[in-house]
Amino acid sequence: MLIVQKYGGTSVGSIDRIKAVAERVVRSRREGNNVVVVVSAMSGETDKLIGLANQISPNPDEREMDLLLSSGERISSALTAIAINELGFKSISLTGRQVGIITDKAHTKAKIERITAERVKEAIDDGIIPVIAGFQGVTETSEITTLGRGGSDLTAVAVAAALNANLCEIYTDVDGVYTTDPGIVPDARKLDKISYEEMLELASLGAKVLQTRSVEFAKKYDVPVLVRSSFNDNPGTLVMKEDKEMEQVAVSGVAYDKNQAKITVIAVHDRPGVAAKLFNAIADANIVVDIIVQNVSSDGKATDISFTVPKTDNKKAFKITEGIAAELGAKGVYLREDIAKVSIVGVGMRTHSGVAAKMFETLARHGINIIMISTSEIKVSCIINAKFTELAVRVLHDSFELGEGKKEKVKPKRKITLKKN
Ligand code: ADP
Ligand code: ASP
Ligand code: MG
Repeated sequence: MLIVQKYGGTSVGSIDRIKAVAERVVRSRREGNNVVVVVSAMSGETDKLIGLANQISPNPDEREMDLLLSSGERISSALTAIAINELGFKSISLTGRQVGIITDKAHTKAKIERITAERVKEAIDDGIIPVIAGFQGVTETSEITTLGRGGSDLTAVAVAAALNANLCEIYTDVDGVYTTDPGIVPDARKLDKISYEEMLELASLGAKVLQTRSVEFAKKYDVPVLVRSSFNDNPGTLVMKEDKEMEQVAVSGVAYDKNQAKITVIAVHDRPGVAAKLFNAIADANIVVDIIVQNVSSDGKATDISFTVPKTDNKKAFKITEGIAAELGAKGVYLREDIAKVSIVGVGMRTHSGVAAKMFETLARHGINIIMISTSEIKVSCIINAKFTELAVRVLHDSFELGEGKKEKVKPKRKITLKKN
């Protein structure tokens, strides 16, 4: 088998951990597999580099940031190759450029356009284990780019697709994909398998176990992805095409995202072209708008528009909105930063009714006010006050009986006595 193994930041977080990764790679090789390794930067490294740049400038040039950040993965890939060599197996580290990962020019969030992977193929043919520096690529004009936070997942999936690998293993610090973040709900249950669609929703709604774009890529090119721990040999979670079994449960996971901010424009003209003007201006600044709520005006003249943007872009979005507020006829623009999004996800929602109502009822029972709602075929999201995020995730997880041992739904409902924090 040809297997791409990606190791995340924690998995290569120290020299001992890198040695353990080398052992695991070699073990798979001894079992008869051809292994291609992709590594993240050592844990904390990317944040550290961002911190250094921010000590000089609050708004560093994005081209320079990409060159800076790509260095984290260079270090870990070279160290991993050294560790594999030390075990008596030939290994070489390769940068994104050496692998031929060609991207567009969107610095800090570049999209992969194509991968040549010549050096990788040559290495495999020569019995050499390639260790690829994740998270990075190069433009047609030789500029170094990075693929967005968590982007080593994308490198792994894209390389697996380019090589037509049998499997892409994502090694991380948890045993697989859980019904929610096991870091905040200890009762979360590991899923044996999850559909690309559900994983895509969970990832884009905040579950950082896989980068959203890596899941899109896996779905598009049909790459089977196995998420598992680098700390043990537990079986992990297979991300794959939907099957009948998956539709039997209405909700398979709960996600949360604290990187949210809400902008409200008060009393804009209720006439054609207002929303287009506003959201074109925001889109031109490369800001992704998430939930939008607009009411019909009661007097036929003025209406409020609220929308959410990533917290990291809120200042920029607020400034743009303020800048065109007069043109929109607005009486004012407000920014709210203390919000979060909690979401429930499941392909079974297509065939189960009352799921959204149950979510709203659960939140209400715990005194959590819903600020905005957004739904799609397989998810329901609510914007709430950020201070209730953990509570909301726990009570929703409990209410939809997602926890360990709750699968059979035979137990009487456990009473929830959670402290509001
Ligand atoms: P890596 O450094 O290996 O890429 P990440 O920190 O990016 O790892 O992703 C793993 C983390 O994702 C876990 O430690 C966990 O806290 C978090 N996480 C959030 N939601 C989930 C989920 N539904 N299942 C598993 N992990 C999740
Ligand atoms: N090192 C990068 C980050 O921290 C990419 C990755 O870890 O996947 O976002
Ligand atoms: Mg990650």
